[in-house]
Amino acid sequence: MSLSLSSYFEQARKNASNHVNILRDFRYFLSSIGIVKSSIVLEDDLVLSKVKEEAVKDFFFKYLIGIPLDYILNESSFFGYSFYVDKRVLIPRPETELLVEEILSFSLEENAKIIEVGTGSGCIAISLALLKPNFKIIASDISSSALEVALLNLKKHKPNNLLLVYSDWLTYAKPSSIDLVVSNPPYLKLTDPHLSELSNEPVQALVSPGGTKSFFDISNQAMIALKPGGIIIYEHGCFQQNEVVGVLKESGFSNIQTIKDFQGLDRIVYGYKC
Ligand code: GLN
Repeated sequence: MSLSLSSYFEQARKNASNHVNILRDFRYFLSSIGIVKSSIVLEDDLVLSKVKEEAVKDFFFKYLIGIPLDYILNESSFFGYSFYVDKRVLIPRPETELLVEEILSFSLEENAKIIEVGTGSGCIAISLALLKPNFKIIASDISSSALEVALLNLKKHKPNNLLLVYSDWLTYAKPSSIDLVVSNPPYLKLTDPHLSELSNEPVQALVSPGGTKSFFDISNQAMIALKPGGIIIYEHGCFQQNEVVGVLKESGFSNIQTIKDFQGLDRIVYGYKC
């Protein structure tokens, strides 16, 4: 026999001590499967259709084993756009929107050539492509399964100024041809305690040897690919700023600037090729 909506709310409440956002997320999930708002607000005795009840059961199963809501919904919001996500890619983070904001604040040429390294879901490159239709953007990833997700998002948003490329960092780029390189690369050490909270996300998108090898590799290749005056901009880990600034200096970048995130933590760094 089918259970009513109110009994599922009861189930959510029972789990609220271990899953503090479960009620909020359950309501959000219900609206995503088309259950009318008034039933959700009233938590009423509406008996769910078989299909919706299966979906609700699936929600509880996944949610209670710790699968993030964005993966359950297969949707994430970034810079006001909706992106398809699943466990093949990192869930876009609000801090990463700052990277896009910062790029928009640079005085780049109208038709600037931009490379995003390690695009994952494609959220950075696709947002930039939609906001700046004259930019020419290439986004790469070394994970073919991540690129499949980026391709879904490319088809969803259809920017006509973005190319996806399978590549190890930016080895494919022509020397002195690019105006800006952006990346939110893997930057955690394998021993980072945060990894246990991120166990549903792809480790390849999170971890780099020593936490900084990705910055070394990208910076060295970007130094070749960028035009003189070109910019490199990164998101990095909360306590990594000195190391990443050091990597940029070592790779020959100058006029290095740092930016804090919403919580006042150092999270973004950029520099120029002379
Ligand atoms: N560019 C994507 C993001 O910022 C993926 C980053 C990654 O996989 N490290 O969400």
